[in-house]
Amino acid sequence: MKASKKILIVEDELIVAEDLADTLRNLGYSVVDIVASGEKAIEIASKKRPDLVLMDIMLPGKIDGVEAAGEIRRKFDIPVVYLTAYADQKTVERATATEPFGYLIKPFEEKELHTTIEIALRRHQVEQNIKLRLEIVEKMKKQAEEERDRHSHYVCMASHEFRHPLTTIFISTEILKQYGDQLTEEKKIKHFDSIQSAVRSMNQMLEDVLTIGRADSGKIEFNPIPLDLVYFCSELVESLRQGAESHHTIEFIAEGDFSDAVMDNHLLHHILTNLISNAIKYSPEGGKVRLLLTREGEQAIFRVQDQGIGIPETEQAQLFQVFHRATNVGNIPGTGLGLAIVKRSVDLHGGEITVESKVGIGSTFTVKLPLHN
Ligand code: ATP
Ligand code: MG
Repeated sequence: MKASKKILIVEDELIVAEDLADTLRNLGYSVVDIVASGEKAIEIASKKRPDLVLMDIMLPGKIDGVEAAGEIRRKFDIPVVYLTAYADQKTVERATATEPFGYLIKPFEEKELHTTIEIALRRHQVEQNIKLRLEIVEKMKKQAEEERDRHSHYVCMASHEFRHPLTTIFISTEILKQYGDQLTEEKKIKHFDSIQSAVRSMNQMLEDVLTIGRADSGKIEFNPIPLDLVYFCSELVESLRQGAESHHTIEFIAEGDFSDAVMDNHLLHHILTNLISNAIKYSPEGGKVRLLLTREGEQAIFRVQDQGIGIPETEQAQLFQVFHRATNVGNIPGTGLGLAIVKRSVDLHGGEITVESKVGIGSTFTVKLPLHN
């Protein structure tokens, strides 16, 4: 294992240096170079990245061994062992300040050299390990902080979004309480209906926020099962047809063989329901919505097309973020959670989602999912 350790010798006396190189080779190290100045030492350390530098302190040139060692340690994190014939107090102090990995006074024994190098290499290895662990801890801490920030951000936005339905409930109950006996039956039912729909929307919002929270903390699993894709889609479309109050035409077209499909039915349900519901919601009464299922190699392509209000080009990229809604929604209700859930479901599936849309013309959301993993 020693054989692979590369050492750079910085020594201005060539004979001493050659002698040292021989000793090192005998000990099983490889000598990457012999240089005679601090400047050259830094240059070669940068180019050849040795595992250790043996550095003479007294060197010709602008910078001495102590300065060169400091720079090599700082810039490249390479351990340095000093070699010196004599050491006055001041030099020793300066050398100590660069945190050397060893200090050898010339002349030294081969055994002493060997031990010093091995200890230096080992100590450096230990330091690297500690550094790596600290980095991992630091990274985990940052991730935890980010997650906490994101959660409080969601909670903050969700509570803001809750105000609207809460206000509706408050006003309607207030009217029913104060003027209940003066209202026509029809008016009363209208207020009860809006209370119910506000409760439903708050419930849906809660569900959605919880789903996103679970997805973000890795608690939603990807559970693929063999799936009859065409049957799955037609059932889903049929149930949405029955739910659509506004008489949209929902068309489903499948082209290709999907008999080998292995997918997570829950995630796929989230994806298609949200996309088709959006297509319905953002299209005029009686509009046409189409789900197109095709195959490209080992991928299933789902296209949800509508002829609705469209999405302004500059806003398209942000729609997959939580609570993001385009500016042209008018008073179409929504909280901006659906696509965030879709995006997470697509990611869990190892797929991708894109959108093409023109304001006033319509939108097409394309989801590509691997047919099997
Ligand atoms: P919900 O949480 O109830 O789904 P939402 O529909 O507003 O609310 P998303 O489904 O995330 O939220 O969609 C985000 C935004 O993207 C919408 O508010 C709308 O501006 C835009 N959008 C999504 N789908 C369409 C579409 N088919 N046509 C036009 N705009 C769309
Ligand atoms: Mg939606």
